[in-house]
Amino acid sequence: MVAPPPVIEITNLHKSYGELEVLKGVDITAQRGSVVSLIGSSGSGKSTLLRCANLLENSEQGEIRFKGEPVHWKGSGLHRRPADAKQVLRIRTNLSMVFQQFNLWSHMTILQNVVEAPVTVLGRPKAEVEEAARAYLDKVGIGDKCDVWPAQLSGGQQQRAAIARALAMEPEALLFDEPTSALDPELEQEVIRVIKDLASEGRTMMIVTHDMKMALDVSDHVVFLHQGLIEEQGPPDMVFGAPRSERLRGFLSATH
Ligand code: ADP
Ligand code: MG
Repeated sequence: MVAPPPVIEITNLHKSYGELEVLKGVDITAQRGSVVSLIGSSGSGKSTLLRCANLLENSEQGEIRFKGEPVHWKGSGLHRRPADAKQVLRIRTNLSMVFQQFNLWSHMTILQNVVEAPVTVLGRPKAEVEEAARAYLDKVGIGDKCDVWPAQLSGGQQQRAAIARALAMEPEALLFDEPTSALDPELEQEVIRVIKDLASEGRTMMIVTHDMKMALDVSDHVVFLHQGLIEEQGPPDMVFGAPRSERLRGFLSATH
């Protein structure tokens, strides 16, 4: 049998904000069912890479493939843009993001937060989506919070609601940008537990994290970014247990 193409395959990605070159030729691949963690100092380009992957940001050079399908571009350099709005929507809805600050809609109940996009963006029937949404909220342990407002929940509960919202899109992959950074340590654990469950179900995920223990526990592959380039990568036991690069060793000792 032929192996399926990677869910995300990025080659030689370059991204600048004006004069500032943030990504300087990055290759990264997320195979189906694998968990890739991105680590690195603040400002190294981790968030930018995730945002380029699901086309929230433009990039001026390099290839992005979703399940083998290359993104079509028009223009070049700083003027390069995706050429096909339908393709952008398809890719973006299939790579659901979970943000550091949860970004729940404060004027909607938790259930409405989860139901909104599958109904309005994907056009799925509301009753069906609601049933699935309740099941996803159950899955992340807050099935009893359907009818409350986001502000009534703890940070850990809000983040789990945001994960349920991402799951309700039934995406091909989940992209996490520092999902536990805004949480107190005790609340962090409840979110990490959910992420571990998702990993053990074989979901495809890319996770930007400052939590080296979580990266060690859940990842199949760890990528260390330094100033817009991959400095070192490999299986978690190698990256954390036997780092080769001086910069990675320095980074790891500073995060302990
Ligand atoms: P990380 O997530 O690794 O901390 P980011 O990808 O957020 O890094 O940022 C990489 C660099 O790009 C930083 O120098 C940051 O200041 C800059 N940057 C990020 N977003 C923007 C933006 N919208 N406009 C200009 N510069 C940005
Ligand atoms: Mg970031």
